[in-house]
Amino acid sequence: MPRIVKFFETTLRDGEQTPGINYFAEEKLEIARALADMGFDTLDCGFAISGEPEFEAIRLIARNVHNAEICSIARSFPDDIDRAWEAVKDAEHSSIHPFISTSPLHREVKLGKTRAEVLELARTAVARGRQYTPNVDFALEDTTRTEHDFILEVIEAVMKEGVRYVALCDTVGFALPWEFGELVDDVRREFPDVRISAHCHDDLGLAVANALTALMHGAERVDTCFNGLGERAGNAATEEVVMAIRTRRQNLDLDVKVDTTKIIPTSRLVARLSGMQPQWTKAIVGANAFAHGGGVHQDGVLKDTRTYEIMRPEDIGLPASDRRMFVGKLSGRAALNAQLKELGYELTPDQLARAFVLVKHVLGKKRVLEEMDLRQCAEAAISPVSDEMIKASGLVVEEAD
Ligand code: MN
Repeated sequence: MPRIVKFFETTLRDGEQTPGINYFAEEKLEIARALADMGFDTLDCGFAISGEPEFEAIRLIARNVHNAEICSIARSFPDDIDRAWEAVKDAEHSSIHPFISTSPLHREVKLGKTRAEVLELARTAVARGRQYTPNVDFALEDTTRTEHDFILEVIEAVMKEGVRYVALCDTVGFALPWEFGELVDDVRREFPDVRISAHCHDDLGLAVANALTALMHGAERVDTCFNGLGERAGNAATEEVVMAIRTRRQNLDLDVKVDTTKIIPTSRLVARLSGMQPQWTKAIVGANAFAHGGGVHQDGVLKDTRTYEIMRPEDIGLPASDRRMFVGKLSGRAALNAQLKELGYELTPDQLARAFVLVKHVLGKKRVLEEMDLRQCAEAAISPVSDEMIKASGLVVEEAD
């Protein structure tokens, strides 16, 4: 049986740290409900001590969402931890997640603290959290730029205090996949009972690769954000990790228990409330993820979608009818025929050949074909007086064409 991967879904926390995003409490609740209904294990809902509106939003979720664990993060200070617990304590399932930067750069420049001081803050943070709940996870911020021996020292300290998950964080998206794999191996060799969560950022476009590598090396959980939101270049994208695992589960010997058919609705909800649309070519949820432009590709997909698609749109909640054949400069007759059929035209092979020439003419003059252009080309191709109509319509440049 494949191992089921757990998710620390952080669309509502790291995702909200995306510059430009600011959810109102009711919006956070709506997203939390969508994430919980998909089956994500833990929802990282925010940073309770950062302000009253954030605290209230987390508490609103804690009081209303019962089918996922509700989490607040906290710096490793007593007040932060108390506040985080206060925000989530009404939830049916709750957890708190203190963190501290462990790397020399962060210790010196950001915190102004020694190794010993950081170690003590980490230890006491987990100890304080454990007075409230057994569900205390701990994150070593900037783990991947931290001295190897210090990583182990901090993990040993928090494990002694009864930490649940230890989050190894590639906070700045610096790690290469094999390095992250080695890190997980080293930690697990030293502490066979450790439960690891992988927090990976996408500064070099490696977040999902790093997260998957961590899982392959024995991490149990991944931190992810819908639509790849998050600080700077974002976190490992939820939809990418989910579908990578689901699509390649036989090879990975891993699987997910989330409802993948809700990926598109949830992605669109997050896009709408965040005001940030995924790029067109974004994996899984981009507008072009199931669109085909080249004639060779289109012909293949129209014969059998498996020629150029490794997932079915239905599996992520996209109607198969949303699969798009883009009629463009590089597209072929098969796609044009399919598009015209959708518009209600049944053309003979001769008429199709004629429409195809017309379409290419139009695309010599404008970038994008609209529905009216397609209709005009089809009508002109069908019409017995088409030559005149074509000239009159201005579709084709005179003689030279
Ligand atoms: Mn982060």
